[in-house]
Amino acid sequence: MNTAALPITIRNVTKKYGQVFALNDVSLDVKSGEFLTLLGPSGSGKTTLLMVLAGFTRPDAGSLRFGADEVIRKPPHQRDLGMVFQNYALFPHMTVAGNVGYPLKLRKIPKKEIDARVENALDLVQLEGLGQRRIDQLSGGQKQRVALARSIVFEPRILLMDEPLSALDKKLRDQMQIELRRLHDRLGMTTVYVTHDQREALTMSDRIAVLNHGEIMQLATPQELYDHPQNKFVADFIGDSTFLAVEKSGRSLKAGGITLKTDSPVPKAENLSVMMRPERISLIEGKAGKNTNIFTAKVSNLVYQGESFLLYAELAGGAEVAVRGTIKGDRYTKLPKLGAKVKLGLDAADTIIIAD
Ligand code: ADP
Ligand code: MG
Repeated sequence: MNTAALPITIRNVTKKYGQVFALNDVSLDVKSGEFLTLLGPSGSGKTTLLMVLAGFTRPDAGSLRFGADEVIRKPPHQRDLGMVFQNYALFPHMTVAGNVGYPLKLRKIPKKEIDARVENALDLVQLEGLGQRRIDQLSGGQKQRVALARSIVFEPRILLMDEPLSALDKKLRDQMQIELRRLHDRLGMTTVYVTHDQREALTMSDRIAVLNHGEIMQLATPQELYDHPQNKFVADFIGDSTFLAVEKSGRSLKAGGITLKTDSPVPKAENLSVMMRPERISLIEGKAGKNTNIFTAKVSNLVYQGESFLLYAELAGGAEVAVRGTIKGDRYTKLPKLGAKVKLGLDAADTIIIAD
């Protein structure tokens, strides 16, 4: 398959339902060939934005271009995009091949060519030889692959996916995340992917747009979002964190009983918190580096999780933070016990101050 990708330009798109802004003045550029994810909680406007891209929802205002083409007034079938829905929307009375070939039939492609392209698409999603099966004879994972094959069989330049893995169990979902991303890299079409699962977004995306109440809270690469969230919403939504209130005294910042060192810029805001990611905090046994914040704390809980542990500790002032560490050998049995005094280290590079 050879799909030429197209950039997407979204400008000032607004969609209201009654008094609710499903989308509030959204502007976003998706690069040609990029895998971009819309991530946000339920009701944040992800599906609405995808439906605007697909042409099923007409926004109240704004413009939308695929390459140089303004498409906001074009109906879905003239937008030439592939789409995978959450519930797959397959035709249950048709075979696998019938489903996958359907978009080609609509486009009046000759039967022989349809057969060849269906076979090729089924190979791509690892369903070779299953063309004559009925849809109700397939597992959830196989149905998902059929929907995917149908969405790429006509070589669209843009692929839209709305929570396509949410019906699968965790193991298959994890595997399909990697597979989908590989398929994208082989085919190269511009992809807009919707999920509410932050780990899925981090795993799959070139960039992530975090949505809340119909607005983009931050647009960045997975690593940038995780390490440098621009606001409390993103910091809280991505990864696990404890937030400690920061006290300002002159130019110094205090939290958890110590004066903080940070390598990152401090937001200009009245109320600040320091973000503490469990896996970035370490238990300090010997001497710590000069550029490490060291908190003294008391162990309040210890949780075993197989490959890792979570140790909870109470800081001066009473706040509780979580520390995650990997378990190797006999490390777990040697961890400090409940009530023990510990030193927690957080490097200045991992010390991120967030505006409340
Ligand atoms: P998400 O996909 O992120 O869960 P949606 O885009 O489905 O969010 O919804 C965004 C907001 O718009 C929600 O408040 C939702 O209730 C509202 N909404 C979406 N579609 C409709 C509709 N057809 N009629 C009324 N309200 C809607
Ligand atoms: Mg949705």
